Amino acid sequence: MVKTDLYEYPPELREEFEATEAIQFRDGSSATAADVWHFMTEIAPKRYPFAYTQKKYAGVRLSRDIHLPSAIKNHYLLLTMNDRITRSRENGAPVIFVQGGQSVDPYYAAGGIALRPASVGLWARGRHEGLGLNEEVVRQHKQKEKAYHAISFEACQTAGYENIQEGGLPIDMVAPFTCLRCSDISYGVEAHRHGPNKAVKLMNIDYPMRHQADKTWAVEYFAQNLRRLTSEIGKLAGREVTDADLSKEIRLHNEGRRLAIETAELWWSADLPPTNGVDRRSLYQMGGMEVHGDPSASLTVLRESHAYIKERVNKGIKAEGVVDKPIRLFVCGSCVFPNDFRIEEAGAIIVGQDNHWSDISTLVEEDGDPYQNLAHAILSYPYEQSVEVRAAWTIEQLKKSRADGVLFLYQWGCNTQSAIARMLCDTIKRDTGIPTMIIEQHEGGSEQSEQLLNRVNAFIEML
Ligand code: SF4
Repeated sequence: MVKTDLYEYPPELREEFEATEAIQFRDGSSATAADVWHFMTEIAPKRYPFAYTQKKYAGVRLSRDIHLPSAIKNHYLLLTMNDRITRSRENGAPVIFVQGGQSVDPYYAAGGIALRPASVGLWARGRHEGLGLNEEVVRQHKQKEKAYHAISFEACQTAGYENIQEGGLPIDMVAPFTCLRCSDISYGVEAHRHGPNKAVKLMNIDYPMRHQADKTWAVEYFAQNLRRLTSEIGKLAGREVTDADLSKEIRLHNEGRRLAIETAELWWSADLPPTNGVDRRSLYQMGGMEVHGDPSASLTVLRESHAYIKERVNKGIKAEGVVDKPIRLFVCGSCVFPNDFRIEEAGAIIVGQDNHWSDISTLVEEDGDPYQNLAHAILSYPYEQSVEVRAAWTIEQLKKSRADGVLFLYQWGCNTQSAIARMLCDTIKRDTGIPTMIIEQHEGGSEQSEQLLNRVNAFIEML
């Protein structure tokens, strides 16, 4: 065990943890629980000390609910991003940047690795070793400053295009969905078209709008876009992509989506919260959203953790650090994750989010043409529909999760979500009476701004 002033996993936990299951990776390799324990207690504290900070309010703090295997394995997968993605790419898997809240099934079906904005940031972060929390926050802010100059001061800069533009990350293709939900896509794609790193292939997946899932032409058109996408990724991966490849991938991701739905419903049904907010979010993200760059690995952790959640709910076991009857907050909007530790200390907990829950909770039909099925599912995501449809779906989630209040959060520069916030919140208040609060924040990074958290905590007090 490394002796430092950083957080240390209790050594007495080792035996219990090492009896848990191995993580199975997509390339056929695996990491036993002993491998994970060794990395998290001996290697990562030296390479990534910022993650082991004891500072109470740091957003990057490790989950302290250490008897839940995913609380450690999720962090293992996040802290090994650079090692794993670099190795897979060297072994021939092209890395594709994706944005727009879409399903990643087609990217993996074609032999690629799909990295969303958060995952691009995690990969970039993993290439800078030995940084403490303050040094890591300064690094992030310097990187964002470059993006404001290279792209535009008007954009939110969540995506991490600056890492690609500068050639700092070897991304093979930029292929986002050009849907309305995210204005950063348009800024980023346009900047990329004119930017210094033109060697990176650029492809847009055109997303038709307005009652799109009900129109045959829109589903067919979108399915053609998906075929074009898998074909282009297949060329980079040096393989022909068949319909069977996509069907297989859809089945794998559907298993994750089903497990995520079951886990969320179990969680919502419990009298006492079975996990803290950080672990709740990481669990549902493992089922379909995919932040680790390896859907098979995420799924093995989700399968194992689902059983733990079931047991905790059946036995009435509450997560550490959470009060008995917390105020239940549901978060709407985009790309803002308020500090769960601070919220839990104030007597509340985040019970759900609309962003990404919309795509994780949409299953894809498994019989028939996989491209048409996937196109229909993606065009049906509630988050991408008109405000009335999105509000009706959100109200359903608020009822299921027994939310006491709604926080609508978005980054400065997020044009669509800032325009939708008022309409969505007014509809929720009119139809349910649940209090809502809208907060815009400047790109927060790991340190989290006091302004955001003061307002969130004032809302919790009011509730
Ligand atoms: S905050 Fe808004 S504009 Fe920025 S990446 Fe998220 S959805 Fe896109």
